[in-house]
Amino acid sequence: PGETTFPAPDPAMLAPGSRVAVLLPLPLAGAYDYVVGPDQPLAPGQVVEVPLGRRRLAGVVWGPGAGAVEAGRLKPTGAVRPVPPLTRAMRALVDWVAAYTLSPPGAVLKMVLAEPAALTAPPPRLGLKAAHPEGLRLTEARQKILAAATLPLPAAELARRAGTTPAAVQRLKAAGGLIEVPLPEALPDWPAPPPGPTLSPDQAAAAQTLGAAIGQGFAVTLLEGVTGSGKTEVYFEAIARALEADRQVLVLVPEIALTAPWLARFEARFGAPPAVWHSGLGKAARKRTWRAVAEGTAAVVVGARSALFLPFARPGLIIVDEEHEAAFKQEDGGVIYQARDMAVVRGRMEAVPVILASATPSLETRANVAAGRYGRVHLPERHGGARLPTVALVDLKRHPPGNADFGRAWLAAPLVQAITETLAEDGQVMLFLNRRGYAPLTLCRACGHRLACPTCTAWLVEHRRGGRLMCHHCGHQAPRPETCPACGAVDSLIACGPGVERLAEEVAHRFPEARQAVAASDTLGSPEAVARLLDDLAERRLDVVIGTQVLAKGHHIPGLTLVGVVDGDLGLGGADLRAGERTWQMLHQVAGRAGRAERPGRVLIQTHLPDHPLMQALAAGDDAAFLELENESRRLTGMPPYGRLAAIIVSAPSAQAAEETAMTLAAHAPRQPGIEVLGPAEPALALLRGRHRRRLLIKCRRDQRLQPLITAWLAPLTPPPGVRVTVDVDPYSF
Ligand code: ADP
Ligand code: ZN
Repeated sequence: PGETTFPAPDPAMLAPGSRVAVLLPLPLAGAYDYVVGPDQPLAPGQVVEVPLGRRRLAGVVWGPGAGAVEAGRLKPTGAVRPVPPLTRAMRALVDWVAAYTLSPPGAVLKMVLAEPAALTAPPPRLGLKAAHPEGLRLTEARQKILAAATLPLPAAELARRAGTTPAAVQRLKAAGGLIEVPLPEALPDWPAPPPGPTLSPDQAAAAQTLGAAIGQGFAVTLLEGVTGSGKTEVYFEAIARALEADRQVLVLVPEIALTAPWLARFEARFGAPPAVWHSGLGKAARKRTWRAVAEGTAAVVVGARSALFLPFARPGLIIVDEEHEAAFKQEDGGVIYQARDMAVVRGRMEAVPVILASATPSLETRANVAAGRYGRVHLPERHGGARLPTVALVDLKRHPPGNADFGRAWLAAPLVQAITETLAEDGQVMLFLNRRGYAPLTLCRACGHRLACPTCTAWLVEHRRGGRLMCHHCGHQAPRPETCPACGAVDSLIACGPGVERLAEEVAHRFPEARQAVAASDTLGSPEAVARLLDDLAERRLDVVIGTQVLAKGHHIPGLTLVGVVDGDLGLGGADLRAGERTWQMLHQVAGRAGRAERPGRVLIQTHLPDHPLMQALAAGDDAAFLELENESRRLTGMPPYGRLAAIIVSAPSAQAAEETAMTLAAHAPRQPGIEVLGPAEPALALLRGRHRRRLLIKCRRDQRLQPLITAWLAPLTPPPGVRVTVDVDPYSF
């Protein structure tokens, strides 16, 4: 005990003096060759220090060197870092993701070696142990601390066990009652999971199928079920099976900020919290967690998409919760990837099962189920017989909200009436509007000028809190001007359209007695703020909550009996491939908030398009026709999942430079049967953060591969200075 055992070294050892390829965590074209230093043979996967120019960097032994550089000019490798070598599966994942996303493998490796500080030997962890010096004054609290400190414990843990404060522990240490000793590095035993709740027959069958897959190699299973059907409960069972088999589990979630209730639930079920991983984590926590994952002491990790690249020592199960969520697509940064899809790839590399959970699975996943590539388990009912809410449409053409005595109104009469009734019955109301701020557009009444972001194709959004105008794409902000910047008219600027803050004004006018709160990403900055809001709702300190999509996600609000969707059509406009699908998913999720407990819920959706197949599907509670229509249109146009698609994005400081490079690319586009190139076109955000953008799309059949074509297409092109060309394979939206 006390020794951390690393996996046995790879048999393909490279002897001192031989040529070795080392991949560095940098966006270079490939691995660099070195010569194995005199001290030790190297094995693939080991993390080794090498010189690069004047720097010394930690890279990963990728295999025997094969480069063209003369052996005599190669530099020797240095010290091997004290971390477990990257497994073969992990190295294969890096190569695969790089090839698929057309990114440098070193850029992918950088995500794997996420925290350089983790690659050095950890300092010995110190704990406190009881000492019994002469003449120590013994209070009752001190006796408790000393009793708890017969074994070395971290200070915080000691305070917790003794039921006292960290300050009391520190004072006792200062008085000589506690001494510092190294903590044993022993693997903490994962407490045997207590039995979960009694599952319904459907849940038990699903849990059985998912649990039986543990240890049986790679398989992907869709876990589909309406909100509240117990998907989380069911995959917790699969986690319990993986832990029994002494394997680690990765749970990918779309947004870590929204997982506070999930974390509490996990801890209640398993008696210990999971490790958490996301880009906002502090350096010390990153270092600790990365090592715990690599050494196999972190049993369960829940994280945002970047957790996908953590080097698990003994992976046994991968779960992607809310698999349909757009947040799994990483759109900027060094590597553009879809974390859900790469999770499936990782499952294949590691030979472990993958669970994709959703109430509204993506068309891609549905197609994979239909084709037999993925399995499916289904939970058709809400747990405990809770009924699904009834959904009704409010036709805004028949019930225009118009002007009320307090000004422009956004709530139509049927919704106002439903709110009145709900409040009278002591129910809670959620109004959903996916627009932060006060008003999405500010316009001059005198000259018609609209206030736009100076560096993006976007209107500035007014935020009354702080009296500012903000660009939601680049973060540009400015105080709201007194006069029109175009014509100089005084007091002529007017707010157009509603944001959640403006809706809150209307609610305050119409229902002055109701206690209300606004919930948007800018008003709920932290997991604590979200938890507080949910608590206020649960404890009935709020009657009406007005929110954006931050409220739509997975939260359980027992008293919520009415959900009003203020603008159901928002998101349906434009030519986006996924506009319909995404709006459907979002509205389903919002509707799912209503009536989860004993009281049935109802949902009112305000729309200008009551005949739209999506609205019809929601009103009828029957998605099949809508999904089939969406699916069919993808099939007919050869779009994903029925074809392969990539976007080539050209960006430049001037529109002309962007246009010229895009035209050059179009002129040299590959011409082959089955290959189609569309564009160049201006994307919706033709100007973003001061850069002008043009976009080309390349499409092929499912049985063809785009990557070699794109590589051959782009390789001869050297973009002029300042012009950037990026490839987005499987673009989410455009
Ligand atoms: P989903 O993930 O599908 O939205 P959850 O797993 O969150 O569903 O379940 C919804 C609610 O019902 C949760 O509060 C959960 O604890 C409860 N629940 C689900 N299944 C059971 C069960 N078999 N026994 C007790 N409670 C359950
Ligand atoms: Zn901007």
